[in-house]
Amino acid sequence: MKIAQLLNSQLNKNISECTNEELYGALLSVVNSMAGEKKGTSSKKKLYYISAEFLIGKLLSNNLINLGIYDEVKQLLAENGKSLSEIEEIENEPSLGNGGLGRLAACFLDSIATLGLNGDGIGLNYHFGLFRQVFKDNAQTAIPDEWISENTWLNKTDKTYTVKFRNATVNARMYDINVTGYDNGTNKLHLFDIDTIDENIIEDGIDFDKTEIEKNLTLFLYPDDSDENGRLLRIYQQYLMVSAGAQLILDEAAAKGSDLHDLYDYAVIQINDTHPTMVIPELIRLLIERGIELDEAIEIVSRTTAYTNHTILAEALEKWPIAYLNKAVPQLVPIIEILDDKVRRKFDEPKVHIIDKDDRVHMAHIDIHYSQSVNGVASLHTEILKEEELNHFYKLYPEKFNNKTNGITFRRWLMHSNPRLAEYITSLIGKGWKKDADELEKLLEYRKDKKVLEEILAIKDEKKLELAEWLKEKKNTVINADSIFDIQIKRLHEYKRQQLNALYVIHKYLEIKDGKKPTTPVTVIFGAKAAPAYIIAQDIIHLILCLQELIANDPEVKPYLNVIMVENYNVTAAEKLIPACDISEQISLASKEASGTGNMKFMLNGAVTLGTEDGANVEIHQLVGDDNIYIFGDSSDTVVERYKKESYKAKKYYDTNKSIKAAVDFITGKELMKLGDKERLQRLSKELIGKDWFMTFPDFDDYVKTREKAYKDYENRMKWAEKMLVNIAKAGYFSSDRTIAEYNKDIWKL
Ligand SMILES: *Cc1c(COP(=O)(O)O)cnc(C)c1O
Repeated sequence: MKIAQLLNSQLNKNISECTNEELYGALLSVVNSMAGEKKGTSSKKKLYYISAEFLIGKLLSNNLINLGIYDEVKQLLAENGKSLSEIEEIENEPSLGNGGLGRLAACFLDSIATLGLNGDGIGLNYHFGLFRQVFKDNAQTAIPDEWISENTWLNKTDKTYTVKFRNATVNARMYDINVTGYDNGTNKLHLFDIDTIDENIIEDGIDFDKTEIEKNLTLFLYPDDSDENGRLLRIYQQYLMVSAGAQLILDEAAAKGSDLHDLYDYAVIQINDTHPTMVIPELIRLLIERGIELDEAIEIVSRTTAYTNHTILAEALEKWPIAYLNKAVPQLVPIIEILDDKVRRKFDEPKVHIIDKDDRVHMAHIDIHYSQSVNGVASLHTEILKEEELNHFYKLYPEKFNNKTNGITFRRWLMHSNPRLAEYITSLIGKGWKKDADELEKLLEYRKDKKVLEEILAIKDEKKLELAEWLKEKKNTVINADSIFDIQIKRLHEYKRQQLNALYVIHKYLEIKDGKKPTTPVTVIFGAKAAPAYIIAQDIIHLILCLQELIANDPEVKPYLNVIMVENYNVTAAEKLIPACDISEQISLASKEASGTGNMKFMLNGAVTLGTEDGANVEIHQLVGDDNIYIFGDSSDTVVERYKKESYKAKKYYDTNKSIKAAVDFITGKELMKLGDKERLQRLSKELIGKDWFMTFPDFDDYVKTREKAYKDYENRMKWAEKMLVNIAKAGYFSSDRTIAEYNKDIWKL
């Protein structure tokens, strides 16, 4: 049937007479039924990608693109006086993720479906997601993100599984979201939820009674875990996900003829970071319940699971006290003890044991001992895992370790977010790149072509104007579209070093005050949510918002330098910001950012990276060469050494480096103290001078120098455009289609 007919069958009046809400609802139904009819592959073996987060973004446009009907729908609506982009506005962004890890899971689902692989996602349906960020008095406040509305992509199913905790038994109900492949079949994202959730128990902001798990289990992603009840709630959530997921996996395998002794021929489970780790003991428990001997059950499960490590930050590696597991999921404790016991019999080294001397369970250790594969997410990260963080494990199981450099889906991050650039690329090199991203390299032929370079600049300028309009309309912020857009958007964390960027802003502000005015004005854009319990991160947001206000009211500085912090940074905002970016800030402390994927999205959209040799920046650097990236700062080797020797003293840099001292002193100087919260600013200043755990000071001078060099180079527009073009041309390696093909070849073998 034609799209027009399908759409009309959903409506009881002409398209031109419908409201945008009605059209959104009708499009959602049409897309859902078209997607549902496109069956995915049904190979014997199936992949289950299990993850606490899926940061999928709005779905309407992406599904229209993947189903191949975007242009047709857009035109049909236009003929009836309707705008698809206005209809897109109706959709709420699903709040099912936090940052890069969740966005990675979403890109992977897109690529799995696009490559025609038999693989579904398993996660939880959080009613209010992470939280919605609202700025008030130059600080972040958190409120529930009410993303689920009447018209929803969640399809309720009849499938339910019983999940037992020590003090409660709940019914996990499965909801499905269709995952459309680009020009291919449809897979599913299975999200579990329970019917008894009570949204009314939410009090102020995002506070709620943490104890009533029948009412609160799926209210929020990552509820505050600064007290015991919060930590217990996280365990309850994780178990809900893995127990329901494990039951689904066993059911599907059995339905296809598995006798469960051969489960690994029917299922492979990719464990995304440690949150789903309990799937290992839970599957062992279920297999035993179904009549399989303990040792064989352990063997079967180990052959079915694979683990992805996402971080080397010690505080992010989950360790649950045995006592907590006993309170929440006592049935897993004897199994975990057996798993630990087997490890202890084989290995003396306490660093590889599962249960430590303080009776805490190291979740990553379960994953490493009892799965077939351990992968890092960029080459540098995997090397650090092998040589440093997980070296003891690497020596035991060298064959398990492998690298899978992250990727992003070009459907969302180019075709959807930057259609004019996508079309222009196609006009130059044909459409082959849409299925084989390496073909983007054909663009290199045009690196000296003035007309092409001019068009690339024109597309960037248009995107900058669009961003300026969007910021004005949605966030009530005015920016100068003729300035350099220098953007850092990512979760707020000290290791990502938004504070280093803020120190640069202060430095620049002081220079302008001193009469040293930049040739081209600069707009520094931030976007970042901070975990509500992470105080220093909140302080950094406060500093940035204070700088924004200070400069906005300073007629001397404002024409040359502006700071904008975009409220509630999410996928929708990223889709507007990234195509408009000139300079992509990727300034994490070398060795700390496992990969990053924002860096890849920016590159693909013709932004030039200003970054450290960290995560996937290293691979970007290798691909584009020295002339098309701005690298600064100490190497990961130097940083690792400095931590080992405990030799870093921030105060020394502060005492001896005038620029650093001036910038840091400004935080507690009279201008900001008048505007901001004294306690926050003083705490931040003290943290920097006394500790600076993520070593911003040693990199400061090089950062300033390199950033100035980039600004200078920007002025030669043709040379800059060539850098943009090389970045786009070399981005093909970072397609998640490449990443997923590697996972399949080396690990899943579907
Ligand atoms: C890509 C993305 C991230 C990850 O960004 P990094 O710079 O790699 O940390 C986080 N949040 C959103 C909304 C994203 O789209």
